[in-house]
Amino acid sequence: MTCNGIEIEVIRKAVRRVSIKVSAGGKVQLNVPWQTPLSVAEAFVRDKADWIMVNYLKFKDKKPHTLQPVSREQAVELVDFLNQSVRHWLQVMGEKKPVQCHLRNMKTMWGNCRAQTRNIAFSLQLAHKSNAFREYIVVHELCHLRVQNHGADFQALMDQYLPDWRERRKEGK
Ligand SMILES: [Zn+2]
Repeated sequence: MTCNGIEIEVIRKAVRRVSIKVSAGGKVQLNVPWQTPLSVAEAFVRDKADWIMVNYLKFKDKKPHTLQPVSREQAVELVDFLNQSVRHWLQVMGEKKPVQCHLRNMKTMWGNCRAQTRNIAFSLQLAHKSNAFREYIVVHELCHLRVQNHGADFQALMDQYLPDWRERRKEGK
C-alpha cells in the first residue's frame, strides 16, 4: 500500500484495531486485524494521510542505532557525568530553575527535552560515547529550554555556548 508516494507495509496481526507506526528510516507499518477488510485499512490510511506525511518526514533521516548493552558501572559513570555537566551548564547559561533528568534506552534519540515541564531524557547509549559528545547533547537539550526547534535561533545559542558543536555532533551519526 502507498500514501502520497510513501510505502506502507501492511501487517496482518492478532490485534483489535487498525494502527499505524512510523519508525527510524521512515519505515511505515500498518497493523491490521485478521478480520478487517483491506478497504477499511485503506480508509484509515487516507484519514491519516497528513499524520503519515509529517511523521515520515520526521523519521526518514533518522538512523536507528543498535542498542548496545550497558553495564551497571557504565550507567553509574554516565549518570555522574550527566549530573555534573547539567549542573555546570545550567549555571553557565544562567538557568536558575532546576531540570529533571532521566535516563532511557532510546533507539533514535540521544536526548529529548520538554521545555514546559523542564524534563530532559538522556539515552542510556551515551554510555558508549565520549565526554565531548555527551556534553554536546547536554548543551543541546538545555538550549531547547529556550528554543524548541533547531532553527537559526537555536543554532545561534549553540554557537554561543559550544562553538565546536558541529564537530562534536559527528560522533552521533
Ligand atoms: Zn534537538
